[in-house]
Amino acid sequence: MGERQPFYRDTWVEVNLDEVEKNIHNFQSWLPDETQMMAVVKANGYGHGAEHVARVALRLGVPYIGVATLDEALALRKTGVTAPVLVLGYIRPQDTKLAAEYSIALTVFQADWLDQASKVIEDDDLINCHLKIDTGMARIGIRTEKEGHAVVKRIRDSKNFQLEGVYTHFATADELDASYADEQKNRFDRMLRWLKKEHPEPIKYIHAGNSATALRHLDKVYNMVRVGISMYGLTPADEIAEHLPFELHEAFSLHSRLVHVKKLSAGEAISYGATYQAQKDEWIGTVPIGYADGWIRENATQGEVLVNGVRCPIVGRICMDQMMVLLPHRVEVGEKVTLIGRQQEDMISVAEVARRLGTITYEIPCMISYRVPRAVWKGGKMVQIDNDVF
Ligand SMILES: *Cc1c(COP(=O)(O)O)cnc(C)c1O
Repeated sequence: MGERQPFYRDTWVEVNLDEVEKNIHNFQSWLPDETQMMAVVKANGYGHGAEHVARVALRLGVPYIGVATLDEALALRKTGVTAPVLVLGYIRPQDTKLAAEYSIALTVFQADWLDQASKVIEDDDLINCHLKIDTGMARIGIRTEKEGHAVVKRIRDSKNFQLEGVYTHFATADELDASYADEQKNRFDRMLRWLKKEHPEPIKYIHAGNSATALRHLDKVYNMVRVGISMYGLTPADEIAEHLPFELHEAFSLHSRLVHVKKLSAGEAISYGATYQAQKDEWIGTVPIGYADGWIRENATQGEVLVNGVRCPIVGRICMDQMMVLLPHRVEVGEKVTLIGRQQEDMISVAEVARRLGTITYEIPCMISYRVPRAVWKGGKMVQIDNDVF
């Protein structure tokens, strides 16, 4: 922490780690005593910065970090994170040696994979494995006891693999109707009973769900739950937004500044395709953000930004690096523009943007690209700026 990489274009994300901290605290108070959190920081911490979020979580006593890929796990190691890290997705068996070298726990679910991985590791390598059981997501995982037997037998027969965890993933935990999740839980419980016979030694972590599971299904959290989206203060789905046990605090906001302001007369057009024409004399501001920043063109449909706490519509097509907004009156160049976040009494939430784009909250911070620097706030102060452009 503490490094401030410069950036020379006034478009930036603010990541408020104090909000992440509040969310983690709330989860920790909410979850049963025997249930730990795994902090999921894949996709660069859902666009918030994986290292920062992982460090907050670890400081608060979270014992495990989850990522999607081996590259993400190695990136955390490179920054000096030594805590247990689990890759939730598939890695190539030939890369298992690397995972062993960096003590990265792996998700296993294929007998062939274990055979191939065995060939690349060395005698004293020890790999923590989490057996993935597919109970209805049909993504990755063993589906039958027969498949499971082949996997577990290889783990038990090898001195290089040990079963540290077993888990599944719910497909509908973010819906009000719990019936499919209940069915998945029953299947998981059945598989756990089978596993107890197959592998009588205790398994340290049994984990079965995501944020929505942690928030809405305390009957399905076992002794660990994998929390991603709501650690960042975002609701897994609109459907359950009104049914959460505690308030979530959004950590992500997106800002820019007006770089040009001008008056157009009635009939004068704006941007590619000249699709928008001024209705009368209109004050138009240019904002230096575009689709290459992940602020996709669809944001122009009904999209608004905040300037001096007032909502201003996006007008004309969004370009690669810039877009235009309709101002209520003349505003100075340099004035702050908030695309996501609070200004005075108003707030454009991630959920609002997601709704407008017809998608889920998850996509929004993930979509804001590497080109937008991240200013990290902690303890009420800006403590670091990350800029991946140069
Ligand atoms: C991404 C992921 C999570 C976290 O899900 P959220 O809905 O973001 O809380 C949990 N488990 C697995 C396997 C994942 O891939």
